[in-house]
Amino acid sequence: MPEGHTIHRAAQDQRPMLVGKRIAATSPQGRFADGAAMIDGRTCVAIDALGKHLLYHFDSGEHLHIHLGLAGRIYRSAQPADPPRDVVRIRMESLSHVIDITGPAICEILTDAELAAFRMKYGPDLLAEPDEPERAIARIRKSRSPIATLLMNQQVISGIGNIYRTEILWLLGLNPFMRGCDVPEETLHKLWAEMRALMQIGVKYNSIITNGELPAAGQDIQERVNIYAEAACPTCKSEIGVTKISARTLYYCARCQSV
Ligand SMILES: [Zn+2]
Repeated sequence: MPEGHTIHRAAQDQRPMLVGKRIAATSPQGRFADGAAMIDGRTCVAIDALGKHLLYHFDSGEHLHIHLGLAGRIYRSAQPADPPRDVVRIRMESLSHVIDITGPAICEILTDAELAAFRMKYGPDLLAEPDEPERAIARIRKSRSPIATLLMNQQVISGIGNIYRTEILWLLGLNPFMRGCDVPEETLHKLWAEMRALMQIGVKYNSIITNGELPAAGQDIQERVNIYAEAACPTCKSEIGVTKISARTLYYCARCQSV
């Protein structure tokens, strides 16, 4: 499951290929033929991300909503592109580029009203401009659930996955089991700002980097983390604790995250 930074990066990479251009849309697989027909011949006016959701906006007032889920993939190519494979749910073509999307968990057309309702369902996105931490912080402060659970709840904050959740709690020395209502407001402001900065790095390098070791330009790298799936805490050398919370594995240092 991609974390939010990968979807923002996907939006950023596709903007020059589609935005401001007339789009030919088809469903080579056939399963989205009606949806593709609704945006076929329209101009794409913007592409943005909300958490793990990708949204393509068209001048007709229609919006293509994609959630890749576990199996979904996006393939980009320059024209002239190869013919689509028959698993492509939707192909969008401008004169310069082709985007093929396969295996999405969600692929649907939203009206303006449906898009507004959809946005209301989710917590603010860390990478949105302008950002709006107050809405997320208020929801956390009202909850008795553990902070580690709240950070993964997309109705509270959009875009944080398991790796970022683990890393930000360790970086702030925060006990993952502390109830949301017990976390001081200033700590939550700091959490938002630091999480946003880490995800901006994630978009820039297209990889999760939380340990400050930024790669040289153009270097392709794997994730660089502090404690996620690691054996020992880099600070105190204690063994990293492992538990399940909200059905996902949580790593933490019981010594450094005791506050
Ligand atoms: Zn430690």
